[in-house]
Amino acid sequence: MSGTEQKQAERRALSRGVPDVGELARAVREGRRAALARAITLVESSRADHQEVAQKLLVELLPDTGKAIRIGFSGAPGVGKSTFTEAFGCYLTAQGLKVAVLAIDPSSARTGGSILGDKTRMEMLARDPNAFIRPSPSGGTLGGVARRTREAMLLVEAAGFDVVIIETVGVGQSETAVADMVDMFLLLLSPGGGDELQGIKRGIMELADLIVVNKADGDLIPAAKRARLEYKTALHLMRPKYPVWAPDVLLASALKGEGLSEVWEAVQGHHKALSEAGELARLRAEQAQAWMWTEIREGLFAALKADKRASDLLPELEKAVAEGRETPTIAARRLLSLVLGGGKAG
Ligand code: GDP
Repeated sequence: MSGTEQKQAERRALSRGVPDVGELARAVREGRRAALARAITLVESSRADHQEVAQKLLVELLPDTGKAIRIGFSGAPGVGKSTFTEAFGCYLTAQGLKVAVLAIDPSSARTGGSILGDKTRMEMLARDPNAFIRPSPSGGTLGGVARRTREAMLLVEAAGFDVVIIETVGVGQSETAVADMVDMFLLLLSPGGGDELQGIKRGIMELADLIVVNKADGDLIPAAKRARLEYKTALHLMRPKYPVWAPDVLLASALKGEGLSEVWEAVQGHHKALSEAGELARLRAEQAQAWMWTEIREGLFAALKADKRASDLLPELEKAVAEGRETPTIAARRLLSLVLGGGKAG
């Protein structure tokens, strides 16, 4: 069954009734795949009763989360993310580790699930009993998609997965969303070197804890080596994220399965360095708080949108601000007071 078919089956199962939280939590903790898939479908559902159960489930499972190494994979389309994810995932399961692959693709509503939803991708990893692959939640804002992926990450951790890989499509804002939820952000680049560097936003380079030049095989080896030096130089010019970790540039070939152990060593080295310095705990605490603020912002927007008086007042306020009759600050306060201040619009 492809990821998409599996999701559809899960949704049908859920529509037959809301599951018992305690029972589902137990089954997830035991690492049962069907229960895990069901739990993820629950957090992805926009139905209010599903959301309520999903939040109860997450609270129940929270003590069992946080033990995995969380890695984000990013890179331009075509760089080899799927191929690399599959090769790296299989490498890890061969070491006896349990690997979960999740995705963030805010465009998946439009394309019908472009990454991971396609069953021809990552076939080998999908068949691996120690791997769990889940396509991106579809629809809604990037914030909504990111939230559901975060929650799915907590669920796979509770189910005992050792490594969680979160893959992004490599366009738009999804990189930042991924970087905000993982321990290590890995940027995949191709042997294109300097030309490619031009096209990469500096901000994305700054997020990287590790750069992997993929496709370092055959005729591309010399170009890959040159690209490695160029990327290294570029990294040197950037302010490091942590005093205890200097991002490196490694070569790999996802196609030939080369360079994977070096990448895994770097991931472990990064995890160890950050843990020992107390940076990992600090990073995760900050991420959790930032997530809370995202929820507050989204909640406020949703409340404003749902408030009839606010939406009636909005056009008038916008006009007043545009014409300079009202300051933006006062206009914003008037609108917010409708939602927060029990109806006083003054
Ligand atoms: P994505 O869009 O980033 O997920 O890229 P894909 O994994 O779909 O790969 C894009 C193309 O690059 C495919 O034709 C792959 O076979 C090819 N590719 C991926 N990894 C390698 C590699 O290590 N070496 C070479 N030579 N080709 C690769």
